[in-house]
Amino acid sequence: MTKNISVLGSTGSIGVQTLDVAKMHGIKVSALTANRSIDLLEKQAREFEPEMVAVLDHDSAKRLKIALSDTSIAVYSGEEGIKEAARCAQADTAVNAIVGVAGLMPTLEAIASGKNLALANKETLVAGGKVVREAINKTGIKLYPVDSEHSAIFQCLQGCPENSLKKVILTASGGAFFGRTKEQLRNVALKDALKHPNWSMGQKITIDSATMMNKGLEVIEASWLFGVPDEQIDVLIHRESIIHSMIQLKDNSVIAQLGVPDMRIPIQYALTYPERLESPVKELDLSEIASLSFAKPDYDTFECLAVCRKALRLGGLYPTVANAANEAAVALFMQGRIGFLQIPEYVGNAVAQFSGSSDDFGLEDILNADKETRAKILDM
Ligand code: NAD
Ligand code: MG
Repeated sequence: MTKNISVLGSTGSIGVQTLDVAKMHGIKVSALTANRSIDLLEKQAREFEPEMVAVLDHDSAKRLKIALSDTSIAVYSGEEGIKEAARCAQADTAVNAIVGVAGLMPTLEAIASGKNLALANKETLVAGGKVVREAINKTGIKLYPVDSEHSAIFQCLQGCPENSLKKVILTASGGAFFGRTKEQLRNVALKDALKHPNWSMGQKITIDSATMMNKGLEVIEASWLFGVPDEQIDVLIHRESIIHSMIQLKDNSVIAQLGVPDMRIPIQYALTYPERLESPVKELDLSEIASLSFAKPDYDTFECLAVCRKALRLGGLYPTVANAANEAAVALFMQGRIGFLQIPEYVGNAVAQFSGSSDDFGLEDILNADKETRAKILDM
């Protein structure tokens, strides 16, 4: 079981819940990081007394350094500072709860310094799955999924012999706009896209859920985590978010993991594996829920999901490009500069226009493809 963690992205939705779990089970916290919001970071630092904190924004880091000058906590800044926190010597596990591809370099840093990884930051695997796998193979660290669907699959796989897996079945809530037609999506507002039916999460992933890009990213994430190709990954709409995902074995037996939607279960399992400890999460009462529903996803309306599957089949840098285009498009949508349906349009066009089919690529190529794709969209 994990004894000492660094929490990268500690001020976000996953970060805060990770600290909850750490507090409950007496897991020491050695490093905390944030983008720029330092008030919460300062509060967390005073409560958890880590060795170090890091803030991406240099000015905010300076202010935090002054605020924490009565403590012995070291304050680092910039991308280098976040990497410093990722390799923090005291931690045995890095929890990566950063949003977006910004989490890739800290992930690689944590792996290179021999830490196990509890990974919420799915964009790390989507954009850089190949180099992350190569780095893990070199160091032999353990990778524990935090994303609820992938944690569910990981939980279902416990005790199954290797090679017994036939397919994984990722469940999807369908997001804020399930059942709508394209026409009905044309003029949806940001505030509507930010209303998730079951989960309270950061803004980017909530919008990704509304476009179903989130499920597309998760298909690619599942492929890297469990070594399954696109054809062996089903997506099933399940509005209630009670079944967090399932596996189907070679004998057609299906195993599912259920629970009330609360990220503290998958976060805790990633930190306490293989132990099952007490949790503040509510018990699941299926008689109260009464019925669970299922449906096929609508690939025509929610094109991001189809584009991600295509990118996965094409391989190489295509998933990197799909992810970068989405990050840029979501940023523009949040600034009110483009409409909701332009998100899938930009992602689709970026993948259609990209040509770089080679499987022989490395970290530099990933970072370049990410940067170029983003720049094209943001400069439009
Ligand atoms: P969030 O926006 O609430 O928090 C993001 C955190 O990352 C914050 O601490 C922020 O300060 C930091 N951050 C933002 N940009 C950064 C940058 N450029 N460099 C360094 N740090 C930066 O996001 P979240 O909802 O907690 O999601 C975090 C990750 O976990 C995402 O990849 C998301 O897809 C994944 N995830 C989240 C949930 C959930 O319930 N929130 C569930 C499954 C997976
Ligand atoms: Mg998920």
